[in-house]
Amino acid sequence: MTSTMQEPVELLRDRLERAFAVHTNRLTELTVRGPATDPATYEAQVESARHGVANTAQALRRMSEGSYGRCEACGTTIDWQRLVAVPHARRCSHCR
Ligand SMILES: [Zn+2]
Repeated sequence: MTSTMQEPVELLRDRLERAFAVHTNRLTELTVRGPATDPATYEAQVESARHGVANTAQALRRMSEGSYGRCEACGTTIDWQRLVAVPHARRCSHCR
């Protein structure tokens, strides 16, 4: 029998998948609604939602490729505390 305990990285995958859904819904909502107040605020909100979608999608892709959790700058393993705080982190605490 193999262990049924969830790998810690799977918990981050769950969080990333949920965050991806939240950002996607937010972006859709903003796009459908259009600018409610001033255009600058709206642009910033759209931009922030787009970043959220992109960051989480890239992190999920790195997970499926097996490169997740490795610093893209120095190649070191990103420490767990940092990944828990920022699941889409691409760089270690030294290179960020
Ligand atoms: Zn690094």
